[in-house]
Amino acid sequence: MVRVRFAPSPTGPLHIGGLRTALFNYLYAKKHQGAFVLRVEDTDQKRKVEGSEEYIENCLAWCGLSPDESPNKGGKYGPYRQSERGQIYKNFINQLIDSDRAYYAFDTPEELDALRSTAEINNDRFMYCALNRDHLNNSLSMTKKDVEKRLEEGAYVIRLKVEPHKEIVVEDKIRGTIRVNSNEIEDKILMKADGLPTYHFANVVDDHLMEITTVIRGEEWLPSLPLHQLIYDAFGWTAPEFMHLPLILNPSGKGKLSKRDGDKNGYPVFPLAWDGKEGYKEKGFLPQAHLNYIAQLGWSIEEGKEIFSIEELIKKFAVGNIQKGGARFDYEKAKWVNQQHLANMSVAEIIDRFPVHLQQLKRVYTDVELVLALIKDRLVLLNDLEKESEVFLSYPKSYSEKGRKRLKKFDIEEVAHDLIEIVGTDEPNNYKELMAEKANEKGLGMGAYMQVLRFAVVGDLTGPDLIPLVAVLGKNVTVGRLERLIEYIND
Ligand code: GLU
Repeated sequence: MVRVRFAPSPTGPLHIGGLRTALFNYLYAKKHQGAFVLRVEDTDQKRKVEGSEEYIENCLAWCGLSPDESPNKGGKYGPYRQSERGQIYKNFINQLIDSDRAYYAFDTPEELDALRSTAEINNDRFMYCALNRDHLNNSLSMTKKDVEKRLEEGAYVIRLKVEPHKEIVVEDKIRGTIRVNSNEIEDKILMKADGLPTYHFANVVDDHLMEITTVIRGEEWLPSLPLHQLIYDAFGWTAPEFMHLPLILNPSGKGKLSKRDGDKNGYPVFPLAWDGKEGYKEKGFLPQAHLNYIAQLGWSIEEGKEIFSIEELIKKFAVGNIQKGGARFDYEKAKWVNQQHLANMSVAEIIDRFPVHLQQLKRVYTDVELVLALIKDRLVLLNDLEKESEVFLSYPKSYSEKGRKRLKKFDIEEVAHDLIEIVGTDEPNNYKELMAEKANEKGLGMGAYMQVLRFAVVGDLTGPDLIPLVAVLGKNVTVGRLERLIEYIND
């Protein structure tokens, strides 16, 4: 059975890149009828940010990416929060110590800093490894007695004993085979001085214990893969398969998509509001549209098609179509995708799912369906509902200068009077015919009547389909707006 995990560290809000990782894990799990696990990697107490674990869960819930196992939901491989798995890591690190695959190291941070500085002066990089470990303070270089004494004193870390001159071969499903010489890998710390595991150690132990079959994560973890392989080897475990997803780049293509760039150019990089800043939800994105867009970051789903439901994404998910190179983020495209999803939604569905956005309209119209049918195709974001509703809720607050200039060639007042007569005495079905008659009589084009009517109702020359709009507004409102226009013209 396929088992995948999304393993965020609660060190802040969930970035678009993180959400894409969660999405791809979810798609892969669903495609293979597997399990999607949420594991919270919170062993770095210093970087933990209050509220971020809850935030991450809320984001997944908004998007409908609900985990099969998680800290809240539980499951038979729990606990799913690494901070609650301390004893497990202790037991496993002891195994590595006993089998001579890991060792205690007592070097102080100051001693290591000094070594780093000296290396830097010589244009070199200090690496704790087979070449120098015998000259440093650790259980491999000290007598048993000294080691016991230092262990009693308590300040120590545990490092992986990396065997030199070995070729490490790892496989990434997206990038293929990667070969690294073990001489390039440091004796990495597995257990920190505070008794907690490092990311690398906890990650490998948990992926093994939770029987994860496929690790799908961001490209930034690719350089750690050989080290992880060494930890699997040290335990004699078989590693899961790996997929490292391409970076998400700023719209310029220069550098990783950053919050700073988002702030500067007015687009969010988080699904939900964080720290007083709007996320995609608050901007008015539909969760399914947001997922549809981010699925395309690094995945060419299908030639010539861009709009997919989550079910289609599950069906189509194929590792072979995931690109290696970075994927450029494009906010305009994200909005366009949202617009397509809104257009594809039925009026009833919008009313049902987003009642809050329609509150104002509901106060005035018993039949909001009619209104929504007229503006649905004009919506890019859900929040546009407010702006698009205005015309149904109040007379124009202003008249566009451009419209006024365009209409100058007609006697607006005369046309408006004719329109008042038509609207006041007849039914919307007949408006067009009556306008055509009047236009003919006055030697004007039909356009004059349509444009003046639109200008009176909307205050501009664009807007929803005119006759149905006027029908929804009703006689009184329409006549009132025509009268207002006459006042304005004469002002
Ligand atoms: N905790 C890591 C992160 O926040 C997870 C990396 C992984 O998936 O192995 O990115």
